[in-house]
Parts: sequence; structure tokens; C-alpha cells
Amino acid sequence: MAKCIVVGGGFAGLSAAAFLADKNHNVHLIEASPKLGGRAYSFLNSKHNTIVDNGQHIMMGCYHYTLKFLNIIGAEKNVEIQKNLKIDFVANNKKIFQLKAKSNNYPINILFALINYKALSLLERLNVIKLFLKVLYNYPEDYSNITTKEFLLKNNQSQNSIDSLWEILHVGTMNCKLNESSAEIFVRVLREIFFTGNQSTKIILPKFGLSETYCKPTESFLEKKQCKISLSEKLIKINFNQEINKALSIETNRNELSEFDYLILSVPPFQLQKIFDDSEIKITLPTYEYSPILNIHLWLNKNFLKEKFYGLIDSRIHWVFNHFDHITLTTSAADELMKLSDNEIIKIVRQELAEYFDEFNNIEIKDYLIIKEKRATFKPSILNTLHRKKLLNNLGNIYFAGDWINTGFPSTIEGAVRSSHIFADELS
Ligand SMILES: Cc1cc2nc3c(=O)[nH]c(=O)nc-3n(C[C@H](O)[C@H](O)[C@H](O)COP(=O)(O)OP(=O)(O)OC[C@H]3O[C@@H](n4cnc5c(N)ncnc54)[C@H](O)[C@@H]3O)c2cc1C
Repeated sequence: MAKCIVVGGGFAGLSAAAFLADKNHNVHLIEASPKLGGRAYSFLNSKHNTIVDNGQHIMMGCYHYTLKFLNIIGAEKNVEIQKNLKIDFVANNKKIFQLKAKSNNYPINILFALINYKALSLLERLNVIKLFLKVLYNYPEDYSNITTKEFLLKNNQSQNSIDSLWEILHVGTMNCKLNESSAEIFVRVLREIFFTGNQSTKIILPKFGLSETYCKPTESFLEKKQCKISLSEKLIKINFNQEINKALSIETNRNELSEFDYLILSVPPFQLQKIFDDSEIKITLPTYEYSPILNIHLWLNKNFLKEKFYGLIDSRIHWVFNHFDHITLTTSAADELMKLSDNEIIKIVRQELAEYFDEFNNIEIKDYLIIKEKRATFKPSILNTLHRKKLLNNLGNIYFAGDWINTGFPSTIEGAVRSSHIFADELS
């Protein structure tokens, strides 16, 4: 049984702690902020007595390691998994186009879902299917030198296919523009969603606030395993012995800790670099470019939504989520909206909702809360992908975890959890 210190209480750190504790290792998790969750947490909005997330998070059935983590901490029941893939895409003429698969006969059900996606002409749908075959029969690495936009254009995807299908799938999974991402990463994401089984294509939403969904269950699980969590404890320096290639102790804002076999660092690279510099560890991490996500929580006089969520085609708002007592609008790669004032954003919200939903006409916005996450995810660009491939997984007894590790996936929950699983497996 090894003694492990895990630094950082986001998805990567919490899942690392859970995977290790599940194998009966002794874990002490330290987190700089007074709460767990990192970039994915919830809080009580006392004005409306409602739990809201810092940002709506979508998971998918292909989040295999995330589901394993939720299972270990007893939180699988806290998420809702679709019975079959179903997304309602709304166009600005208020028409709804469904991407909907039957529950059985995978993968034929997915083929039919695409053939029946009427936002595209028949020829466009056939070209989409041809592209999917290409994705199936080629390696993601074959596309490491081109952007997703180049990949789509080279494969005869029309402007309408891009606007009505690819753009929204891409921005939701990659959080950047089509001409900014590496096609290698997008192809890998498509393969993972569509070609790793029927379950992988389903959308998964948390049933509760994010902290209630996974942070609190992790806390209870770690407590049961007699592991320790210290909040408001920030790692400042690592005392690393170069000769034996080993971290001997760490200094935090409160303590010096030396009783550990392994140190797991699950903090983002821009925070980690500072720790390395202060510790005189000569590692230069890549300076990633980041992309923002904007969430707008709305309290209305009447909820007009029929479905749990919608994707909006060619809109400045990408997704609309129905939480019944309030609704949440999400815009990924939100560089433009981030510059605007709250009043300007709400004006756009009114225009977009009126343009996409007939039912919105008589609705009054009673209150709103806008949350701007500036560094929501790093951009999975060609350059960032190159840098990631050169990253070390460990340095002696120090292991790295986080969505930025070279898992081959974009900056997502699954990327973060996969990174922890890699070394948790190595330590067992
Ligand atoms: C608004 C928004 C929406 C998103 N939507 C989705 C989505 O729909 N689907 C999806 O899969 N992903 C989504 N993501 C991305 C996802 O949230 C992240 O990829 C994931 O949470 C990253 O987890 P992490 O543990 O790697 O990093 P983080 O969550 O950043 O955790 C790092 C932790 O380390 C702590 N820390 C930093 N420095 C120190 C230190 N010196 N000492 C101790 N602790 C330290 C930080 O306080 C933080 O808690 C979204 C992100 C945002 C912001």
C-alpha cells in the first residue's frame, strides 16, 4: 500500500484519489481553493434557492473512464444516460431537426440517424456518411497536420453540413473554431463517440449540481477509505533530489509534508509551471492557448422548453438546457460574447431565443446570472497537440494528471479522468 499525495481537487485529482483509494493506497488530497471541483463545480444561488453550475457540463457514453470513476464513488445514479442518441437541433426558422438513433441494431441505427437528419439534403447526408467511413478506416494520426476545417472541406462537406452539423458537434466537444483545432483530435473524438459501441453515442447529463453529482460522493468515498482531504491548502514548492530523481517533501501554505511515496500533480500547466520554477525543477511546460465558455442562467416567468436540451444551428448561443426551475444557455469558444457587458449579452439572448423558439415571445426574463470562464479549456490546436505529445507522464515519483496530459483527447472531463487512470493503473 503506497502513500500518495494528490495535489488539485478537479476531476483529475478527485478521480486519481478515488482510483488509488479503491486499490487501498493511502491518499492525502490537497486543494488550494476552499471547495472541490476545479473547473466543474456548483454552488447555491441563495436569491433563487437554486443550485447552479459554474458551467453546464455534458458527458457522453464514450466517457468510459469517467463512468468507471462515478461507479467507484457510487455516483452513477447521479447522472442521466439517454436511452438512445437524441439531439434536437433548432434552426433559426424555428424548425426542429432531430439526430435520433433507435436503441438497437448498432451501428445500423447510427447510419439511419444520419440518413434521417433532415437539416441536410440527401447528397449532403451521403457525404457525411462517406466522411464517417473515412474516420472509421483511417488513423487519427493521419490528420495531424491539418485543421478540422481543412479536413471537412477536403471531404466534400458543404457549408450547410458545416453549419447544421459539424460546427455544433465540433464546438461542443473541442471548444474552439473549426480552423483552430487539429483534425487528428476531432477524428479521434468522432471515432470514440460513434465507433466504440451503442452506449458511446448517448448523451449523459448530471441530475444534480456538479458538486452534488461527483465532488460530495468522492469526499464520502475517500472518508470511508480513511483518506484525507485538505482544502485551502496550496502547494508552493517541491523539494526534489535530482541525484535520486525523487521528490522528498513538499511545502504548502500551511505545512511541510514528507511522508509519501508518490506525488500526483493534477493542476493546470500554467499553475504547475510556477511550482516548478519555485522548486528549481527545470521543466518548461507548453504555454497553451485557452478558450472561454460562457454560461447564462435564466429565471423566467414560465418555462417554455419541452425537451431537456437543444442545440441551436448557426446561433451565437450553442446549447439550451432545461433545469425546469431555470434554464441555462451555453456558448463555447465564446471570445466575442466575453467582451460584452451583461446588458448587451441579455439583449442577444432575447433576440436569439425569439428567433429560435416561437414559445419565447410571451416570456419574461425575471433574473439572470452570467458566468464567464475565461480559461475553460485549452485549444486542441495542431501546435498544442504537438507539444502535448512531448510531455512526460512522470518525473521519478512525481506523476502528472489533468485534461492537458497527452491522452490524445481534447480538454474534457474524460481527458482529465483518463490521465489519472493511466498512472493509477501503473501503481497497482
Ligand atoms: C464552463 C465550462 C464548461 C465545460 N463543459 C464541459 C463539458 O460539457 N464536457 C466536458 O467533458 N468538459 C467540459 N469542460 C472542461 C472540464 O471542466 C475540464 O476539462 C476538467 O474539469 C478539468 O479537470 P482538471 O482536474 O484537469 O483541472 P481543474 O478542474 O482545473 O482542477 C485543477 C485543480 O487544481 C487546483 N490547484 C491549482 N494549483 C494548486 C496548488 N498549487 N495547490 C493545490 N491545488 C491547486 C485548482 O484549484 C483546481 O481545483 C468545461 C469547462 C468549463 C470551465
